[in-house]
Amino acid sequence: VRPRVVVVGGGFAGASCARALKQLDRDLAVTLIEPETAYLACPFSNAVIAGLRDIEAQSFGYDQFGDLELIRKRAAAIDAERRHVRLEDGTDVDYTRLVLAPGVDLRFDALPGYDEAAAEIMPHAWKAGPQTLLLRDQLAAMPDGGVVVLSAPANPFRCPPGPYERASLIAHYLKTNKPRSKLIILDAKDAFSKQRLFEAAWQELYPGLIEWVSLSFGGRVTEVDPATRTLVTEFGSHKADVANVIPPQRAGRIAHAAGVADQTGWCPVDPVTFESRLQPAIHVIGDAVIGGAMPKSAFSANAQAKACAAAVAALVRERQPAQPKLINTCYSLVAPGYGISIAGVYQPRDGLLAEVEGAGGTSPLEAPPSVRELEAAYAEDWFRTITSEVFG
Ligand code: FAD
Repeated sequence: VRPRVVVVGGGFAGASCARALKQLDRDLAVTLIEPETAYLACPFSNAVIAGLRDIEAQSFGYDQFGDLELIRKRAAAIDAERRHVRLEDGTDVDYTRLVLAPGVDLRFDALPGYDEAAAEIMPHAWKAGPQTLLLRDQLAAMPDGGVVVLSAPANPFRCPPGPYERASLIAHYLKTNKPRSKLIILDAKDAFSKQRLFEAAWQELYPGLIEWVSLSFGGRVTEVDPATRTLVTEFGSHKADVANVIPPQRAGRIAHAAGVADQTGWCPVDPVTFESRLQPAIHVIGDAVIGGAMPKSAFSANAQAKACAAAVAALVRERQPAQPKLINTCYSLVAPGYGISIAGVYQPRDGLLAEVEGAGGTSPLEAPPSVRELEAAYAEDWFRTITSEVFG
């Protein structure tokens, strides 16, 4: 019988993987399960929040997946023994191998006071869509002189530089439109991605506007009160006019239902094949994965998807999978026309995806404006390229 690979989740990871599988082996039966009719991309959604971009520019459809089976339903359960996916309507889809790419869930149980109702008042905007627009609209409605508080979670979480890109673009919005306002970042960490580049840029572009409170100085938020828009830390509380609470996260729910997530909330995998360490014939890619130095980014998700597709295509034909090398680059906009980046190369080592020493790096700390401008243009080019590769 023809082997069937089922992919759950049509984001940067899952959609890339389904497409790559079909390209690698036309005779393979490939099914992509994704309930949403449009995918809303998170990269560049911080520019939407700052009023620099329309949300429509973030939306991608699934009409270019003609050569594979697309099921527009949610996967509700996985039977790893019988090898089938149960859909929300009760029907079963059999697989030879399964790829799970559900992204992240926000942990509404991790921060006292922060649940789904609280997120309607203190948006996370960590999944692009209505939350993005809610935060944008709250900023637009805030009077000049207001205080914006952004809380960033401990590692690991989706998009390590994301909160700081967001802080930068909110600062740009405030400086341009509401110059008497202030932005406080409450952080559950003592260090963050591209920190020196961000801090130097804040000094240069937004002096006195952004205050970063690290873990050691009481940055970790322990409780929130949506009724008064207050964020409580170990060192005291902060009352916000606009509060952007980015809570801790974990692998999407279906990963837990499938038994591929461990006590960390994330999914450990073999770094060569992305096969789960906990269940045979189930592979996990993208943000849901833990195990190594690769950050949770769309770039990583796409790279992991292609490596996983190659391994799965080999395994279903009983061939030996090859050792992958993966690349990630994360661009961040600090202001319009001002971009910075971090890049890394990763390969399997000691059962994890380890960073190849000396292969990566960040933008130079000292650089003329022309370099920042070029990187902002590269960021746009990257987004155009990856979204057309993934969604057609
Ligand atoms: P997702 O993109 O979340 O896709 C998961 C998909 O699975 C969704 O379509 C969902 O509907 C579907 N799904 C979930 N459960 C089920 C189920 N049970 N059945 C069927 N389908 C299901 N990354 C970058 O590389 N560069 C950036 O500049 C960047 N900027 C970012 C800015 C922000 C503000 C944020 C929040 C993130 C940013 N990222 C960036 C990170 C990037 O968005 C994620 O790393 C990426 O989306 C991960 O892809 P994924 O496919 O694993 O998950």
